Amino acid sequence: MLKALGEAKRAGFGGGNSGGCAGVRNGAVIAAGRNQREALQDPTAHAEMLALREAARALNSWRLDECTLYVTLEPCIMCVGAILQARIARLVFGCLDPKAGAVASLMRCAMTRGESPRGSQQRHS
Ligand SMILES: [Zn+2]
Repeated sequence: MLKALGEAKRAGFGGGNSGGCAGVRNGAVIAAGRNQREALQDPTAHAEMLALREAARALNSWRLDECTLYVTLEPCIMCVGAILQARIARLVFGCLDPKAGAVASLMRCAMTRGESPRGSQQRHS
């Protein structure tokens, strides 16, 4: 989570464009991302998407089922979809996003009866 927070700080913490993310496998950070929608003028350049791409490159595989993804902010519907597609084993996010969160706030895309079909979520407050 510290790596994710560091990425968020680099993205401009508190500026409304502040998501940070880190992918971890076997205790080692293998990927990191920060929200770069403005810098890249790319609507998909959320921290999670960039970290997932970097993790897949690092492992030379789209199957990230041995990875944990740490994110500063609850992922949106696009990122939850990508996280599920990548088979991420565990998702940890720092705070809820009532505007766009798709795990527990606005939608519950990754949860079935309070559980994730492919992992678990933890909330830290
Ligand atoms: Zn997103």
